[in-house]
Amino acid sequence: MILYKNVTIARGDNVLVRNMDLSVGEGEFVYLIGKVGAGKSSLLKTMYKDLDILEGEEAKIFDEYNLLALKSSQIPYLRRKVGIIFQDFQLLTDRSVEANLDFVLRATGWKNIAERRQRITEVLDLVDMVGCEKRMPNTLSGGEQQRIVIARALLNSPRLILADEPTGNLDFETGQRIVSLLYKICKEQHSTVIMSTHNLAFLNDFPGRVIHLTDNQLVEVGGTDEPDTIEDVIAGSTPDSLESLEGIPSDLLHAADDSNNAEAHC
Ligand code: ADP
Repeated sequence: MILYKNVTIARGDNVLVRNMDLSVGEGEFVYLIGKVGAGKSSLLKTMYKDLDILEGEEAKIFDEYNLLALKSSQIPYLRRKVGIIFQDFQLLTDRSVEANLDFVLRATGWKNIAERRQRITEVLDLVDMVGCEKRMPNTLSGGEQQRIVIARALLNSPRLILADEPTGNLDFETGQRIVSLLYKICKEQHSTVIMSTHNLAFLNDFPGRVIHLTDNQLVEVGGTDEPDTIEDVIAGSTPDSLESLEGIPSDLLHAADDSNNAEAHC
């Protein structure tokens, strides 16, 4: 699904990741961690060609799109197959939930109104937000808005979902519900999910593979075999992986008890 070999990513003269290798298969749930500025967003952006790779031996998405030589005419087709979720929601604030979703469907070639309506209901159902069609984004809570963003990302049934700190603006409990939703989509729809996060405590409830951007390298952290707890991950780590956990503040590994915010869906 994703194959990067010897890839280097930079912003201007600033090399962020050097000679990285990454292979991600169908249906994997992957946490991407690293300090602020390590290059997590930049790495995700290369996957939907929002940022060009500086150099590399191979960089392919779906075995079909060669990111090192992708024609600009192909970029919309690649993006249609990738669901992108940002931290800051980015819903259009001047229109309803339904109009936000319909806008994307029309922009991606859905001509039939009845089919668009049906698809909107389907994705709202997936994120447990049926009934919210007429609501304006600013009348929804942060968690609810993020559910709509996830629904929007699911419209074209993406095989790959890239979530750039989707819980960054949410309290822990609300964030946990969002991760739970992404996890469900990964397992039930067999989509691959790559999620950058500052909070590895999610790993306790939603096991996955962990990759760490540190010192301009991409390092695989711990085992990927459905660990039960973060302790299992650390216990299963090779010495190299343990080293890679250094520098990650320990509070990232524990759930913050900072919320009583309940979400009341529509
Ligand atoms: P992270 O997601 O890990 O916080 P980013 O990929 O956002 O890291 O940023 C990595 C580095 O690239 C940072 O030093 C940041 O300042 C720089 N950077 C981010 N966006 C741009 C940009 N549009 N132009 C130039 N440099 C940028």
